Amino acid sequence: MSYVGTVEGRRVGFTGDLIMGDGKIFDLYSFQDAIPEAKVGGYHGYGGRLADLISSLQKLRATNLDVIYPARGPVIRKPNAAIDQLIARVRALYRNYLSTNALHWYFKEERMRICGERVLGKGAKIELMPYCLHVKTPEWIIEFSTSRIIVADNGHGFLLDCGGQRQLDFAKDVVARGVVKKIDGIFLTHTHDDHSQMVKAAAEFFKCPVYATAEYADVVENPGHYLMPGLTEHAVPRVKAMEDGAKMRWHEYEFTFRFFPGQMFYHGALLVKRPKAKPVFFIGDSFAPSGIDDYCLLNRNLVHPDAGYKRCFKIIRALPKDTWLINQHVPHVFRFSDKELTFLETRYAERTRILRELLPWDDPNYGIDERWATFYPYGTTLRPGEMREVEVRTRQPLAGGAKIYRDPARPSWFADFGRCKIHHTRLAWRRRGEGENPRAKKTRRVRHHRRCGFQRHALPRLGGGGD
Ligand SMILES: [Zn+2]
Repeated sequence: MSYVGTVEGRRVGFTGDLIMGDGKIFDLYSFQDAIPEAKVGGYHGYGGRLADLISSLQKLRATNLDVIYPARGPVIRKPNAAIDQLIARVRALYRNYLSTNALHWYFKEERMRICGERVLGKGAKIELMPYCLHVKTPEWIIEFSTSRIIVADNGHGFLLDCGGQRQLDFAKDVVARGVVKKIDGIFLTHTHDDHSQMVKAAAEFFKCPVYATAEYADVVENPGHYLMPGLTEHAVPRVKAMEDGAKMRWHEYEFTFRFFPGQMFYHGALLVKRPKAKPVFFIGDSFAPSGIDDYCLLNRNLVHPDAGYKRCFKIIRALPKDTWLINQHVPHVFRFSDKELTFLETRYAERTRILRELLPWDDPNYGIDERWATFYPYGTTLRPGEMREVEVRTRQPLAGGAKIYRDPARPSWFADFGRCKIHHTRLAWRRRGEGENPRAKKTRRVRHHRRCGFQRHALPRLGGGGD
């Protein structure tokens, strides 16, 4: 909702968070939404509300304002220029997003065109990356739905993901029929439930360990401590947390475990080398033959040089020659040519530049990553009057440099607040960064604020002073 009126002879607009500064938006993650006309659900709807943003801006522009008073940031004294700038930035962002998009593989061209025309305008040119080389999966890998089983020459199997009863039943059946003698271990590529839902049950049934990398082992063991799309309620105890780059021999194979934050932040990958065969790299859901799986902002696709897709590109560049990629949603193995990889890298670097211009923060990740600061554990149920200590965790930039963000419009901290089932309870909590911080030992009581339930932003005051 915006208000437009005349004050002392000037046309003024009060536009809330519609626009900031010279043509920016406060964040991008709030624009994630379904696109029903393209049959795209909320989870896959990157920037789903950007089309509405543009039509709202166009309505506002038609009122010929002299000045805009936004909810945050400085007064906008050249409204039309700022509006034009914002529309241009949003279109550049969306055009860029579509050009590298994995959904082109899953949803095909027509649905991408519908998504594109909403934002870019009727008849706009929609660029999509053509599919890269994809061929049949080699016979030493059994393919079933979102699972794969690597088979050793002695008949032992290693399971990749177990996202549902069907996948578990299939693995059991393969063993029962003697196609595979036994399952020796499970690697969980990432924490989404279409990969993790039955991992606990499979590990119990096959009496085998579950592997992940250290960066997301805790999410697998304690999914209720986090807020992310698609977490499972089936926590897996005693995950074998492998260091990034750790190697493991398994029969004639060599495995290399990688932290691979592509489709989501809590994501790994497994490089599998078999003698006299082309290596394969299990990349979970991070790439498809048409590009990258970055359609859900709540998956936390950070744009630090050493995080998110930039890290994944580097890892793929360094793979042994002719390594095949496996995304278990894609019933093939595939690989990008040098030219295709360069295209993806170049477009992604451009995306980061657009985000820097579109978002007001010194680090664009604050506008992308809703969970840059969060309570740990996220879900907490308290009895009335019960005291509990929770941590406030902030994401430290992996590559160093950026400071913890302070909202210039607020004199003190604001942070995300978890779910609290009870009104007016008290939380005792301690402010602490992810590293050791000797100054951060203050314990304060805060009253639970406003309404309870699933709440994205909340405002417990965490004391003054920033780190
Ligand atoms: Zn998946």
